[in-house]
Amino acid sequence: MRSLSFSVLLLLLFLNVTAQTTNKMDFEAYDPPSSLVVKEHKTSSAKFPFIDVHNHQFRMPEMDLGILITDMDKLNMTTMVNLSGQSGESLKKAVENGNKNYPGRFIVFANVDFKGVGDKDWAEKAAKQLQEDVKNGAKGLKIYKSLGFSVQDINGKRVTIDDPRLDPVWAMAGKLKIPVLIHTADPKQFWQPMDANNERWLELATHPNRQRGDNNSAPWDTLIAEQHRLFRKHSGTTFIAAHFGWYANDLNKLSTLLNEMPNVMVEFGAIIAELGRQPRSANAFFTKYQDRILFGKDSWVPAEYATYFRVLETTDEYFPYHKKYHAFWRMYGMGLSDEVLKKIYYKNALRIIPGIDKTQFPN
Ligand SMILES: [Zn+2]
Repeated sequence: MRSLSFSVLLLLLFLNVTAQTTNKMDFEAYDPPSSLVVKEHKTSSAKFPFIDVHNHQFRMPEMDLGILITDMDKLNMTTMVNLSGQSGESLKKAVENGNKNYPGRFIVFANVDFKGVGDKDWAEKAAKQLQEDVKNGAKGLKIYKSLGFSVQDINGKRVTIDDPRLDPVWAMAGKLKIPVLIHTADPKQFWQPMDANNERWLELATHPNRQRGDNNSAPWDTLIAEQHRLFRKHSGTTFIAAHFGWYANDLNKLSTLLNEMPNVMVEFGAIIAELGRQPRSANAFFTKYQDRILFGKDSWVPAEYATYFRVLETTDEYFPYHKKYHAFWRMYGMGLSDEVLKKIYYKNALRIIPGIDKTQFPN
């Protein structure tokens, strides 16, 4: 008798749990269509011709660029900056491919080969190679996040971003008057515990290899501090901090940094969702720093540019972002003025990146 009532109790408990779980839903699955009815201004093309300063085309030396041009024209992207130009022969070929087939439409940045840091003549060679690459048509230098993460010297030690052994490279970029676009670290949430308090939980759940720790390869604050020391030390070199320097969620902090470091610009590749959740603060920031911001996107998915245009240009409310793992929240447009839009779409890039044909853009 006693064991029977115990079984009944267990059964009731089971039914109760089942009922509860059927009322739960997967976080990714819950994405109800909005019932909000407001004015919409969807656009798949930018209001002004623009220069995307953060793009990667690894096959540029041999690829048919016509495929890119078709999509670029649809977006109103006049000039694409390919940051993955490498160096030496392949850089030369990439530049030639662009100049020969679509003059004015492609700009190529060089990359540094960090193998051999610590060798006595490494820096001199690297600086000389950069000079050679610029002679062959490179208009800037791109530094990947591997510097800080995985680049090691000849003794197997992590090379810090502000390692003085790299100084001749930054000095050479300054001397050649080319900008250095540098990506350091990743969103801070990648270093934080992966739990209910982490805004990038879904990104870490779907991309487990993005999770980091203080020993992999250093704490977030350390990497960012190294980057800022580099910027301060080489005040005669123009740097573009990729992804808003990972401070798009703290524009006050970014203001302080930009005030302190007049040689630094920012681009908003992959962080438009941060701006789209604070349209008033972002508008104030863009208005104040209208000469310091460049248009960047990073991953080449033409359909995703629409979100960028809508956040920058319109005052639309509560519209979806294109990737839930970047933003489980909705977007609001910043409604930037034409004057500010022109600066971030092309005027600032024309000012700091040499060799872009200005006649392609309005005044
Ligand atoms: Zn990139």
